[in-house]
Amino acid sequence: MGGQHEWRVAPDAGRPDGRACAHLDLMDDWRLMEDCRPAPAASPATCTDCLARGTTWVRLRQCVTCGHVGCCDTSTGRHAHGHHVESGHPVAVSLAADEDWAWCFPDEVFLVRAGGDAADPPAGRGPHRREAP
Ligand SMILES: [Zn+2]
Ligand SMILES: [Zn+2]
Ligand SMILES: [Zn+2]
Repeated sequence: MGGQHEWRVAPDAGRPDGRACAHLDLMDDWRLMEDCRPAPAASPATCTDCLARGTTWVRLRQCVTCGHVGCCDTSTGRHAHGHHVESGHPVAVSLAADEDWAWCFPDEVFLVRAGGDAADPPAGRGPHRREAP
């Protein structure tokens, strides 16, 4: 412990046992990618798997390892999860404007920014809690 990370495991993520995440180093790298990526308006993110199938998505997640964009588990395709299964890449960050967190698939924890006033806890609307349409 003792490392300075930009992100940390959300304290209230529906996991009262406080599981750890071994992938916070990835999030430090992600911040750098974030600084370098083009403005969202110039290149709107899409789920290419959904576009190929003609389906729609609810929210988008971006893989912090390779930048792949896929849809969330509330979406029909669940392509972000599919990408994790195929690639083994562990963490996807939400691209939704009203969400400021990432999800670690293997550890099943939310990650939030450590600095400043953290975003709303994502409790109740996590990737594995499917809401009725
Ligand atoms: Zn993790
Ligand atoms: Zn999709
Ligand atoms: Zn990936």
